[in-house]
Amino acid sequence: MRVEGITGIATRMAEIRHQLAAFAGPPAAPASSASSAASFATALESAGSLQGRYENGRIPVTALAEVGSTGHRLAAPAATALTSLLKAAQRDGVTIGITDSYRGYDEQVDLARRKGLYSQGGLAAKPGTSDHGWGLAVDLDLDAKAQAWMRANGSRYGFTENTPREPWHWKFTA
Ligand SMILES: [Zn+2]
Repeated sequence: MRVEGITGIATRMAEIRHQLAAFAGPPAAPASSASSAASFATALESAGSLQGRYENGRIPVTALAEVGSTGHRLAAPAATALTSLLKAAQRDGVTIGITDSYRGYDEQVDLARRKGLYSQGGLAAKPGTSDHGWGLAVDLDLDAKAQAWMRANGSRYGFTENTPREPWHWKFTA
């Protein structure tokens, strides 16, 4: 009778484990929760759902997208749509300038102080409620021709003139 030493047993156990592993197939790739969370965040961002992730006026600049090369930033879908709109206007010989875009909370407070609250006859939203604070509103510099062009074409790009007394203010709705 053959007596196995400890080394022999260990070797056989390793062989058995190897056979079991071969039977079970290749080991599953370890789940990486960090990378799936990152891709989920990217998907959310590309869908433009900033409102569930940030507070109004507290969106980091990196979560916004630039409108062409204007230096103005909006939520990504609004930035893309406005970039297309500006190109179309240019093709039609219409010049549209951008006065204001995303507005952080502190800027909203400052604007309310300088221009008064809209509800009280002024021109500023209550801080923390402005569509500018979601990167979904833009103030445009429009001459009469550009104003008419926006009224005729803005909605094709998702932009509507939604605030009485503010013909320059256009809100993006996906
Ligand atoms: Zn505005």
